[in-house]
Amino acid sequence: MAKKFQNYIDGRWIDSKSGRTFENRNPANWDEVIGTFPLSTKEDVNEAVKAAKKAFDSWRLVPAPKRGDVMRKVGDILTARKEEIARQMTREMGKVVLETRGDVQEGIDTAYYASSEGRRLFGHTVPSELPNKFNMAIRVPIGVAAIITPWNFPMAIPTWKIFPALLCGNTVVFKAASDTPATATTLVEILLEAGVPPGVINIVHGGGTEVGIAMVEHPDVDLVSFTGSTSVGKKISEIASKSLKRVSLELGGKNAQIVMDDANLDLALEGVLWGAFGTTGQRCTATSRLIVHEKVYDKFVPMVAGSAKKLRLGDGLKDNTDVGPCINEKQRETVDEYVKIGVREGAKLLTGGKAASGDGLSKGWFYELTILGDVTRTMRVAREEIFGPVLSVIKVKTLEEAIDVCNDTMYGLSSSVYTQNINNAYQAIRDIKAGITYINSPTIGAEAHMPFGGVKETGNGHREGGWTVYDFFTEWKTVYVDYSGKLQRAQIDNVEK
Ligand code: NAD
Repeated sequence: MAKKFQNYIDGRWIDSKSGRTFENRNPANWDEVIGTFPLSTKEDVNEAVKAAKKAFDSWRLVPAPKRGDVMRKVGDILTARKEEIARQMTREMGKVVLETRGDVQEGIDTAYYASSEGRRLFGHTVPSELPNKFNMAIRVPIGVAAIITPWNFPMAIPTWKIFPALLCGNTVVFKAASDTPATATTLVEILLEAGVPPGVINIVHGGGTEVGIAMVEHPDVDLVSFTGSTSVGKKISEIASKSLKRVSLELGGKNAQIVMDDANLDLALEGVLWGAFGTTGQRCTATSRLIVHEKVYDKFVPMVAGSAKKLRLGDGLKDNTDVGPCINEKQRETVDEYVKIGVREGAKLLTGGKAASGDGLSKGWFYELTILGDVTRTMRVAREEIFGPVLSVIKVKTLEEAIDVCNDTMYGLSSSVYTQNINNAYQAIRDIKAGITYINSPTIGAEAHMPFGGVKETGNGHREGGWTVYDFFTEWKTVYVDYSGKLQRAQIDNVEK
């Protein structure tokens, strides 16, 4: 009998008012049901928002260092339960346990960072232009935050949003992707155990079009933090703009690793394998394009294809597995369609190219690790996000051409350059249009205390991570305290007539 999960609304674990449920299955073994979850509706969202609105009245008044103490406890509990959560996450979404441990660790790092921010949340004091007057700008909480997250980082991404939201004094209604609701539920349980009061955190399970849209449309939701695809992000932006609510969008990517003729090729090889096939290529920062200088193309590309062939697909809980499955049937079909499109457009299939078969793979959404050579910048496989284990390789003549190809997409999230030449490195840092540039390391590997996000259609200008996310979850209030005991008119009384 599959475990039954519930929503958490206004301090109670409850079913959806719809009475309907959905199942979540292991993508490496579709016979294994992780659990059944409420298929919620707008009515459930309304209840959750009502509870969060009510709870905001008291949570906003809790001193930030005290809210920070709760975050420290969250970090401690996550640390104690790291292995168990990592294993549950691998069963739920397939990536290998080495990586799901990293996903939980990112949550731990984010919790301790949020805890310390409770004793900062710095504002500004600025001299007044008038005597006996004190000026300051302070951060204040905003209200109810709707948090909508994807499935590829089931713990890390929710923590990037929920921990700073709560630390700043906001309350939360959370909807995780319907492929990863179990990890999301664990996170809510941990927040409650650490001392987050009822109503301050609420989770509503269900689909994007039903639950997600209801959250974004709700007039009592003050801000929306969304990570997911660019197409859904645009819809959310459109809906939210009607009420002018604040929206943070972290969207798709088409990230490139550039390999120059002076690169350390062994290092570049390790980087591209990790960047392209880690999380089965299902990261927003995954290396989807490999841009190689013509002088090393014929040497380097066979090295990459040869090594990719040796990586072992399988159940992420098994020690000898390097790469897990695609998240679901639809995603595997999308990957296969893109590979076929690439070949039709003239790309050369260097390895992979079809759904994987073999021992232990027959009941999972596995796809062979695929490399397409001779890709040109106009092909769809060079321009569109695939979100799977597919690497498109493009040959270039110069660094300038490499950067130009790198920039030639609608996205701008991550980028990487392998070179031993410091001038090349700094030119790339200056000219690549992306939120993140790595030198001599792969396109993946964000650290929790650094800003994270992209340019162009990867987002709308906000940054998660580090100190920057606290700008999103607070409003500035400007305060003037006049202790002169008389009316002092700015721009008038202090200016010679
Ligand atoms: P998705 O856009 O399909 O779904 C993301 C979330 O939005 C899910 O919770 C989903 O249920 C919900 N949703 C779907 N339709 C909705 C709607 N109409 N209104 C409101 N909510 C809706 O994305 P996904 O398949 O879960 O994740 C993959 C995508 O996420 C990729 O494009 C990837 O690049 C992107 N991503 C971006 C980042 C980043 O930080 N930039 C990080 C991870 C993933």
